[in-house]
Amino acid sequence: MDLLNTLVDKGLRGESPTRAEALAVLATSDDDVLDVVAAAGKVRRRWFGRRVKLNYLVNLKSGLCPEDCGYCSQRLGSKSEILKYTWLKPDQAAAAAEAGVAGGAKRVCLVASGRGPTDRDVDRVSKTIAAIKEQNEDVEICACLGLLSDGQAARLREAGADAYNHNLNTSEATYGDITTTHTYADRVSTVQQAQSAGMSACSGLIAGMGERDEDLVDVVFSLRELNPDSVPVNFLIPIEGTPLAGDWNLTPQRALRILAMVRFVCPDVEVRLAGGREIHLRTLQPLALHLANSIFLGDYLTTEGQSGKDDLDMIADAGFEVEGTDTRTLPAHRADALAAAGGGCGSHGAEGGGCAPCGDAPGTVPDTAPAEPARAEPVAEPVAVAAGESHADLVAVRRRGAGTELPPNA
Ligand code: SF4
Repeated sequence: MDLLNTLVDKGLRGESPTRAEALAVLATSDDDVLDVVAAAGKVRRRWFGRRVKLNYLVNLKSGLCPEDCGYCSQRLGSKSEILKYTWLKPDQAAAAAEAGVAGGAKRVCLVASGRGPTDRDVDRVSKTIAAIKEQNEDVEICACLGLLSDGQAARLREAGADAYNHNLNTSEATYGDITTTHTYADRVSTVQQAQSAGMSACSGLIAGMGERDEDLVDVVFSLRELNPDSVPVNFLIPIEGTPLAGDWNLTPQRALRILAMVRFVCPDVEVRLAGGREIHLRTLQPLALHLANSIFLGDYLTTEGQSGKDDLDMIADAGFEVEGTDTRTLPAHRADALAAAGGGCGSHGAEGGGCAPCGDAPGTVPDTAPAEPARAEPVAEPVAVAAGESHADLVAVRRRGAGTELPPNA
């Protein structure tokens, strides 16, 4: 296919396709999906070899958000039966982070629900960063605390945060359809503040919220312009109790085409396979490793992923390898540019959650997170489902440790 040959040539040079070419990738047929994966896989291997970076989410504060993001289980008025708790103490968060590091994660993503942190919250997170780095000096820390106010990015950087995550989520044109309490411009501004403070920017999208191909291409090109070092690609987890609970709009093949398009547009950027991979890609998950060079290990913020052991087995079985802390994630030119800007990660090893599929709702708020229940066996029955049907049975709300053989996230 001429299109794919052209895109491989561009991707190997680090160049972006045109908007029309990106749209054409999304328009390819299911018959061509393996050709699309093979082509984008060449670009992935050019910049990232067969390495897979593991990231581990620690939800510092679950629920209690005044914002109304329609995809989010922690949103204002959410009826989702998620865990709700206020700030984990630094030693609790450090213990949770340790579980991820022990499982092979080189980045820990510290996420808190809410519009944005207060200065006191920044103090709390600073202490948490110190507690984690005391145990694991080399671990990368990404903070994801919502919209930042003046000076907060610099304070987080000084406290040791290597990166900051804030997703654009969807196109500027459709942003108002999913959130009314803040704007697309607010989100762009926070990513830019993080970059200006010398943190590595992590910003991505959520696919499957009823957007058009044009919207997906718009948000990915906006991300390219914003130039984050990592781009998490989330597939909507339609959580019961949220306005988008009935939005099952993706097939495994479409999810692969979306990932391939992101890889072609952002060839030398860490593309992270994020929330929703298990329920939308299902048995085709391993193919996505040919496109993304990074995944979250284990559970998500408020829902269960597949077990950490299954993640590690999948990586090995597919012929990939977990990236170690002694290996740089980003290609040299990006790592050097980040280091010149004062960034900490991407320069020493490899190179994020926050307000992506996280969420909150007012409710009972214990002082600390609830005790860990007995772990459940991973549920990984292959299922044959199609877009447009309801598959709420595939979404399991996270119950500390359930669904993973690693100790629980937060
Ligand atoms: S995505 Fe973030 S800001 Fe939006 S409702 Fe969820 S926690 Fe709040």
